[in-house]
Amino acid sequence: MAEIVIRDLRKEFGSFTAVKGSSFTIRDGEFFMLLGPSGCGKTTTLRMIAGLELPTSGQILIDGEDVSQRPASQRDIAMVFQMFALYPHMNVRKNISYPLVSQGVPRAQVQAKVAEVARILGIESILDKPVGGLSGGDRQRVALGRAIVRNPKAFMMDEPLGALDAEFREHMAEELRALHDRMKATTVYVTHDQLEAMQMGDKIVVMNHGVVEQFGTPQDIYDHPATMFVADFIGSPAMNFLRFEGKVIPGDQSVALGDTPVALPEVQESAFGPLVLGVRPEHVSLTDGGAYRGGIIAAEYLGTTQIVTLATPHGTIKARVPSGQVARVGEQLGLSFRAGSLSLFDAASGRALR
Ligand code: ATP
Repeated sequence: MAEIVIRDLRKEFGSFTAVKGSSFTIRDGEFFMLLGPSGCGKTTTLRMIAGLELPTSGQILIDGEDVSQRPASQRDIAMVFQMFALYPHMNVRKNISYPLVSQGVPRAQVQAKVAEVARILGIESILDKPVGGLSGGDRQRVALGRAIVRNPKAFMMDEPLGALDAEFREHMAEELRALHDRMKATTVYVTHDQLEAMQMGDKIVVMNHGVVEQFGTPQDIYDHPATMFVADFIGSPAMNFLRFEGKVIPGDQSVALGDTPVALPEVQESAFGPLVLGVRPEHVSLTDGGAYRGGIIAAEYLGTTQIVTLATPHGTIKARVPSGQVARVGEQLGLSFRAGSLSLFDAASGRALR
């Protein structure tokens, strides 16, 4: 098991910089998510941690030791790519044993270790079956078994559930998380799926264009996004952004949206000019009265809740309200925002004002 410290990590491919100076710490035993849109540098970061790619500059420390320039074989990290990458001509037992056998581990030890891994994964009954005939779930368990059997310091997983359909994916995500909770091995997991990151991760790094936008627990990132990019990327539907010209100063937390006073989050810094108020859809309530009003342009039924889209003086706003609430297209309703749950950003930099 291992703690992994990333310090000012940078990777250039010719004139293109894929990772632009990342710093974060992965604590021993954490399930750690690298999250961001396609091309943001997640995989490159993961490959540098695993040793499959050497950094242009910066450091990777594993349990305090600088491994930045060491080859993958000297880092004791298991890479789980697509979980389906098995040896098709071997049975399950041979697939799982392979990493140990190829290292010359004595036979009795291999057998004991494979039995232990099979028990952890609940696949004892299929050990002698050929992998060709296995279900998708069992194949993934076998692939995991092959990674676990070496007892590595940490696991690197690159979109391991990417190829699965939605329902099965959710099931495997739960299984993977439960397995992690039993083994408590440091795991770094790449995904572009914010929901997957929120559900599975102890911590999340959100990346964009090679830059770490934010690093924290799922709740931190959801409740206190550091940038408009993070606020927009996490949560579905996304946070509403209301642009206004105004001034905020520490101690005075009210601004007017049109004629409506709104209680802003407490800030320690002053700012003026174009600002953006961030409101999550579940923090918007709809009322018959109220000074700040909007016209309903759509209502989308989601079971217990519905997403109501309204046209307001600040553009369209989405509200997540109970589906029992009557919301007819064309109707005018008042909007109120739950105090204490709003975010405030500087429009030019996109940075949250704190
Ligand atoms: P995806 O989910 O699409 O894989 P990602 O966030 O994992 O995205 P990376 O694979 O890390 O992104 O790639 C980041 C950027 O670096 C991309 O623009 C990619 O084209 C570029 N890149 C990655 N590897 C190389 C390479 N070997 N040579 C040149 N450019 C590369």
